[in-house]
Amino acid sequence: MVASIKPHRDEIGLSDGLMLIDGEWRPAQSGETWSHIHPATGEEVASFPIAGPVDVDSAVRAARRAFDEGPWPRARANERIRVLRRIADLVREHGDELLALQALDNSVPLSFGTIYATSSAFVADVFDHHAGWVDKLAGETLPPYQGGDHMVFTLREPVGVVGAVIPWNAPLLLFAQKVAPALAVGCTIVVKPSEYGTFAVLRLARLIEEAGLPPGVLNIVTGPGEPTGDALISHPMVNKLSFTGSRAVGRKIIAASADGFVFADADVSSAAAITMGTVTLGLSGQVCLAQTRALVHRDVADDFLGMAEIIGGMVSYGNPFDPAVTASPLINTRQMDRVLGLIAQGQADGARLVCGGTRSEGDLAAGNFVAPTLFTDVSNDMSIAREEIFGPVLSVIPFADEEEAVRIANDTEYGLAATVWTSDIKRAMRMTKAIRAGTIGINGYQLEPHAAFGGYQQSGLGREGGRAAVESYTEIKTVLLPITDEMM
Ligand code: NAD
Repeated sequence: MVASIKPHRDEIGLSDGLMLIDGEWRPAQSGETWSHIHPATGEEVASFPIAGPVDVDSAVRAARRAFDEGPWPRARANERIRVLRRIADLVREHGDELLALQALDNSVPLSFGTIYATSSAFVADVFDHHAGWVDKLAGETLPPYQGGDHMVFTLREPVGVVGAVIPWNAPLLLFAQKVAPALAVGCTIVVKPSEYGTFAVLRLARLIEEAGLPPGVLNIVTGPGEPTGDALISHPMVNKLSFTGSRAVGRKIIAASADGFVFADADVSSAAAITMGTVTLGLSGQVCLAQTRALVHRDVADDFLGMAEIIGGMVSYGNPFDPAVTASPLINTRQMDRVLGLIAQGQADGARLVCGGTRSEGDLAAGNFVAPTLFTDVSNDMSIAREEIFGPVLSVIPFADEEEAVRIANDTEYGLAATVWTSDIKRAMRMTKAIRAGTIGINGYQLEPHAAFGGYQQSGLGREGGRAAVESYTEIKTVLLPITDEMM
């Protein structure tokens, strides 16, 4: 059995949570709570309120008042910069504590926190980056189209009250990617974290309070999609909704999968190690940008499979606080059953299972662990190639030439991220232009706090990070100003 999670909970002093509405930490009006079950041990960790429509309404109205009447949207730029930088500093100071709380939430191993994109340092950098935008977003001055004596210019204004719904797999990072730009431009915000990733977010909200944000600017409502998320996304006073999560839920609001391409001239060992590593290590493939379809040139497919199987065998499951543990369980039993079902479907469809494919037993039986799984001879019409599996499963699809690789690549409803592995830079650029995906890595992949991230097609609307993202929290107002007494 994996060692109990409770001593870590007690050491960090985690107790039942409250939610933040209008500067006050409160229970739900109904008194209802959600018990969080740890995915590695099946133990109850602690509980938090389930916000109903009345609580969500209070939170949105608090954000509305803070926007319409409060100091934050009207603050001097240097005040907003100071608060955002202070948040970044506090996240750095409390980085280990935040990652420990995240491990109590979703069981992402602490060993994974050393990777920059999944570290607290990244979260802090997102706040620092957005502090830099506060005094730089500007409108433009346009020449009068019909000539004459007037000026035309635009102003950038905060969009108003933001509703943000985030998933469980990267709660701190996705919280930062929504809250930092909203605060930078002067919006107010109501955040609903995932019911499987709440405690780290509640702690981060306390740090933000400590940084000096006025009451009502940031509100947190806790609970599951129904009733909490639903009440937030349908609230008429919310001016902008920012959602990250599954396509199924996203579609309700208005709406991943990623690929690796390995050519024969690539460093095949690195390509296989990194591709299999990102699908099995850390979050065990429960990452939107996990490259779960590997398109591999036929001539190097065996070499690729050999290295990928070695990496799969190196994955170590268990208690997330154990430094030797390198990968997490699946978040709940529903998701584990879904992954096992897709694996069975892959086998029934004729894909060849190279390794894994089963639930981990023995000491790991109480947790939601599925052995790292590798399929080959996958064709693109199989469900393991078409669906976002969200588990430790890599599907290898062999191809004969560049044209076939592009055809298979773009035969998908998704388009979040891809990596092209080749030593030929011209080929890399041809593929980059041909593949319809929001981010393309060449011989590697790295998240950056200041670069736009988002998907084509069903992988998303809009971007997070960078200028396009921060601008999406603003409205443009056109101003027509005569500079003589003549009519315009
Ligand atoms: P999910 O869609 O089940 O839940 C996401 C959030 O929506 C949670 O807070 C959930 O409580 C809430 N929700 C559920 N039902 C709702 C409803 N009816 N109304 C309003 N809100 C509702 O996703 P998840 O399991 O938490 O996260 C995994 C998914 O997130 C994967 O599909 C993954 O690809 C995606 N993801 C995408 C990115 C990206 O940047 N594209 C990043 C991380 C995760």
